[in-house]
Formats: sequence, structure tokens, C-alpha cells
Amino acid sequence: MTGSLFDLSDRVALVTGSTRGIGAVLADGLAAAGATVVLHGRDAATLETRRAELVAQVGAERVHTTCFDVTDHDAVVGALAELADRTGGVDVLVNNAGVQHREPLLEVSVENFQKVLATNLTAPFLVGREVARGMVERGRGKIINIGSVQSELARPTIGPYTAAKGGVRNLTRAMAAEWAGSGVQVNAIAPGYLETAMTAALVADETFDAWLRGRTPAGRWGTPQDVVGPVVWLASAGSDYVSGQTIYVDGGMTVVV
Ligand code: NDP
Repeated sequence: MTGSLFDLSDRVALVTGSTRGIGAVLADGLAAAGATVVLHGRDAATLETRRAELVAQVGAERVHTTCFDVTDHDAVVGALAELADRTGGVDVLVNNAGVQHREPLLEVSVENFQKVLATNLTAPFLVGREVARGMVERGRGKIINIGSVQSELARPTIGPYTAAKGGVRNLTRAMAAEWAGSGVQVNAIAPGYLETAMTAALVADETFDAWLRGRTPAGRWGTPQDVVGPVVWLASAGSDYVSGQTIYVDGGMTVVV
């Protein structure tokens, strides 16, 4: 892809929550587009296993790791300062780390509500802000927040997640409003239902599986690979005049009733 609008070969890309699931596939996709990738997670041993896998594909000089809890403000600030020294600065940030909690709103505890908000909404703000400081200084950068169809639509039993992902949509607009003038493009990718560990119980549930296929014009579950192209585009010079948008990658789910 060298020389194309979508070439990422001189870019450093950090993907939060890239030890598994969608984040791991996005990190591989950004590396395949030429980026130097920073893998991230909370467990050092898992990170090292992932690092070894990616190094086998693209070489050690293009793979870094960083280990911190995205909800811990001090840890975020410290780790990102160290990472900036080590890599020269992050050019592309994918705010992907997230959690789900399934329980009706009448029963969910304040602690669980706040945990989902802290991971899915406050963390993209904390990590995004620390990374944006360097981007604004350099006059260049791409931030991609991972939303969900719940950035747009509600569904019973996932109220905290719906509130957080709706917030991600407007956080994306707020970041774009403040940083677009400094050459930093902030956008969100909002995937539909994808087959990952987070949705394993739903995939195994025959009733839900049938509902999902019927509700989605594409007639199937998405895969993490379906999200790679849109993320590479938003990470690249090909999207330099795109700011504050939420792009639904959902097989058409959010355009039909
Ligand atoms: P997974 O549960 O498979 O992976 C989540 C990742 O986030 C893991 O790497 C996990 O790391 C990391 N993580 C979670 N909490 C923290 C934390 N406090 N600090 C640091 N890292 C953390 O999730 P998915 O791959 O399914 O989802 C990834 C993103 O995509 C999420 O934002 C999710 O909301 C979104 N999404 C998912 C959809 C789906 O169908 N699966 C659909 C639409 C959006 P660790 O190993 O340390 O736990």
C-alpha cells in the first residue's frame, strides 16, 4: 500500500484493548497497512504473547506494547508520556477498550453503571486527551473512537452501555470541534453486532441469533475484519477532511426498522 492515500508506513498507531477481540484484529490491520503498532492491555503476559505473534508478521521494530488500566487517570498519563518518549509520539489512536454489563436498569447497581461509563466513555476522553496534546503540538493526528449501534439505538438490559456509547458519539464531536483546527481528525466507528468474546453468549443463543440475522439487512453477524477497512481509512490521509463523524459499520442495521 506504500505511496497510496491509505499508506500508514510512517505512522505510530496505538490501539487500546488490542490483546484480543476487535482491537487485536484492528492492530493487525493497521500493521498490514504499514503502521508501527502499539499493542495495549492490562495483562503483561498476554501482551507479550500478542507482541510475539505480530513481530512474526512485521518485525520487532514495528511493534511496541504498553500496559495500563484505561480507567486509571495517573496510569494513563504516566504510560502515555513514557510511550511518547519511546516512539516519538502517537499519530493514530484507536480508543477501542470497552466492557459490557447486561442487567435491567431497575436492577443495575450504581457501581456497575459507573464502571461501564468509566471504561467506555471516560477512558476515551482520558486517553484521547493525553494523546491529543502531542498531536496538537505536531499539527497532525487521527483519533478513532469505537462506538456501537448503541451510539444510536437502545435495547433492553444494556442501559449503561447504551448511555456510554451514545456519549462516545458526542465526545467525538466535542473533540473534533476543539482539535480539527490543529490538524487532528477525530471520528468514530460504530460497529454492529460482531462475533467476539463480548457477544459469544448471544451468538450461541438461537433466538437472538435468528433475531439478529432478520434485523440486519446484510443477513449476518459482522466480523472484526469488517471494521478494518473503515479504520485504516480514518487513520490515513484519505480522510483528512472528515471530522466528528460516526460511521456505522453494521450491515445496514441502523438504517431500517
Ligand atoms: P473484548 O471483550 O473481546 O476485548 C476488550 C478489550 O478491552 C480487551 O483487550 C481488554 O483487555 C480491554 N479492556 C477492557 N477494560 C479495560 C481497562 N479497564 N483497561 C484496559 N483495557 C481494558 O471486546 P470486543 O473486542 O468485543 O470490543 C472492543 C470494542 O468494540 C469495545 O469498545 C466494544 O464496546 C466495541 N463493540 C463491540 C461489538 C461486538 O459485537 N463485540 C459491537 C460494537 C462495538 P483485558 O484483556 O485486559 O481485559
